[in-house]
Amino acid sequence: MLSLTANRQAFADLSFLPGQMVAVLLPLPFGGSYDYLVPAGWPALQAGDFVRVPLGGRQCEGVIWGAASGTVAPEKCRFIAELLPVPRLPVVSLQLIAWVAAYTLSPPGAVLKMAMSVPAALAGPRVSLLLRAAALAPPGLRLTEPRRRVLAEAHQPGSASDLARRASVSLSVVQGLLEAGALETVVMERKAANAEPDWQHPGPVLSEAQAGAATELRQRIGSGFSVTLLDGVTGSGKTEVYFEAVAEALAKGRQVLVLLPEIALSAQWLERFRHRFGALPMAWHSEVSDVARREGWRAVLEGRAKVVVGARSALFLPFADLGLIIIDEEHDGSYKQEEGVIYHARDMAVVRGRFGAIPVLLASATPSLETRTNVETGRYARVHLPDRHGGAQLPEILLVDQRRHPPARASWLSPPLLEALGQTLASREQALLFLNRRGYAPLTLCRKCGHRLQCTNCSTWLVLHRSAQAHGPGRLACHHCGHWRPMPEICPDCQAEGCFAACGPGVERLAEELTKHFAEARIAVMASDTLTGPGDAAALVARMEARDIDFLVGTQVVAKGHHFPFLTLVGVVDADLGLAGGDLRAAERTFQLLSQVAGRAGRAQHPGRVMLQTYQPEDKVMMALASGDAARFYAAETADRRMAGMPPFGKLAALVVSGADAAMVDEVARQLAKSAPNSGAVLVFGPAPAPLAFLRGKHRRRLLLKAPRQTSVQSLLRTWLRLVKVPSAVRVQVDVDPYSFL
Ligand code: ADP
Ligand code: ZN
Repeated sequence: MLSLTANRQAFADLSFLPGQMVAVLLPLPFGGSYDYLVPAGWPALQAGDFVRVPLGGRQCEGVIWGAASGTVAPEKCRFIAELLPVPRLPVVSLQLIAWVAAYTLSPPGAVLKMAMSVPAALAGPRVSLLLRAAALAPPGLRLTEPRRRVLAEAHQPGSASDLARRASVSLSVVQGLLEAGALETVVMERKAANAEPDWQHPGPVLSEAQAGAATELRQRIGSGFSVTLLDGVTGSGKTEVYFEAVAEALAKGRQVLVLLPEIALSAQWLERFRHRFGALPMAWHSEVSDVARREGWRAVLEGRAKVVVGARSALFLPFADLGLIIIDEEHDGSYKQEEGVIYHARDMAVVRGRFGAIPVLLASATPSLETRTNVETGRYARVHLPDRHGGAQLPEILLVDQRRHPPARASWLSPPLLEALGQTLASREQALLFLNRRGYAPLTLCRKCGHRLQCTNCSTWLVLHRSAQAHGPGRLACHHCGHWRPMPEICPDCQAEGCFAACGPGVERLAEELTKHFAEARIAVMASDTLTGPGDAAALVARMEARDIDFLVGTQVVAKGHHFPFLTLVGVVDADLGLAGGDLRAAERTFQLLSQVAGRAGRAQHPGRVMLQTYQPEDKVMMALASGDAARFYAAETADRRMAGMPPFGKLAALVVSGADAAMVDEVARQLAKSAPNSGAVLVFGPAPAPLAFLRGKHRRRLLLKAPRQTSVQSLLRTWLRLVKVPSAVRVQVDVDPYSFL
């Protein structure tokens, strides 16, 4: 696999002297490297040095990438303008960038852009102008009591408002002292003075099984590259156990990266980290402020940030000395980035681990088939936690056959589930109703003519939203392109007035149905669009913990990681939903998601139960969930994939051809099919209209390449793509190891 190796040699031990030409990689979406000259009188430059170079009429920041490509004649070559005052990008980061670019067939500049996501951090340390007491008080200074207090405080520098606050005086007092020369200005480098996680901070007493697992994980730290699967049922204490590995890495002075899905929602995880290590880790995700990003990026590069917890993009942070990577919920689909550089963060983390010669831990209660297979073949090690912590029982899982227990008309809760909800409410416990559908209703149609309200930019139905939080009352939204509009008054097709019918449930509609049945219950909805930020999620979690909520209705954002001791009933409203699409991983994904949702029930002293509403109780996924026989389910799935030569036993790569002009898109897709590398075991399917055949105003066609495991799909793809001329109005997107087939 590492034959795509961007080898160390290409980056290490190279230095470029004044007068020499050197390749500089620029963080541009379609960019590669460009040659520049090292100016006379400069120190020797090395790969990874951050520089500023002229590009056309402007200047651009980039990194020294290696030997010049020689495509520019020396006399035409321009000089590097500036060496930036930042430590250089470590060789391991350069290797990762080169490797990810080669593996995903992306321009290296696009990958560098992910590593240089905070251009402002290159501007050198941030400084503040602070005030402190002058060494010599000016003669004849009038000393009032407020002034005396300020001067006493000002032995420790601070901003004017800081000093005013500390001395409890008005700003004008400080201003007066400055004008009188009793205070002077000092320039200070601003560094966040965050408390560091303390590995010596006492942790919980581990059970025997947990302690054994923790010891094994601790031994990996500092012993080179390894990948270990930490698997154990939900609530077995995987987090507590991998915290021990974090402690070990910190004790050895190394940095740690923890990747979580839905990082913006992980308030509970952060709290547990603080509890364990006495301080918060550095967080890295889309909600982090610009200032924190700028400081954080530098702290990672300078080795000051010891533990980073983040979304997949954190993998590309410039760690000075990373010693451990943990991927929590390693099976989670959100690790796959589907836009720009299309990559799988779990797989790239393993590559990063190998380049850095460090251990990688993959934690999950429902490991992916890929990871399980790697364990079976001995590539990955496995550490197992067999039981829930503290004797908590796994919940009982019941299938509710919707054919035998149909819900009433225009409602979605079956009599057995309603009864269980009533019991839960009566015993003052909590219930979670899970439905992976945002909004009020997934489809709105005209009762007269059957016309369905569709997005104008996409081949999708518009989703009706009624809650004021989300899109305002009675709005129709496209979940793919963000387009929305108010509910029309007349049908665009038959002009009938006010006869639209909402079809099917979303979480909002379920909440409404619950209110009808349980007027006294306190009900809350949790979905990505009802939360406007991590604060919202934290507030909801706190209300759940305080038992201010009886019934929580949620999408998959509630499935992940939360621990609510009084949550004893989980109702899955439409367990069959995920099976519908029928892609390669539909069964596996449904099993994982529903296991995870089910795992929210009965995590403490109170035993939990889970009810799955289904129309196909004899489906293999439903049977596996009800019987708890995960091993058998996975064995059958594995056998199927092996037979079919599907991942992880074979390789897939998808091409998505898109553009505004359908005829042009079809033509490119046809040309691609004509020059496809069909031979022997390599098969190309398509072109076929994508399931989302029209998305954000673009027509889309798909081709799928299937090849045996040992094939270098990258070289096949490169050769193939060179054969077809693609007009600029058409885009061909390459997705190596596709997870989405839409
Ligand atoms: P998992 O990640 O496997 O789902 P967690 O690590 O979240 O499990 O543990 C489940 C719950 O049990 C958490 O509230 C955790 O704090 C608690 N727990 C696990 N192990 C211990 C322990 N050894 N001592 C005290 N509490 C523990
Ligand atoms: Zn749309």
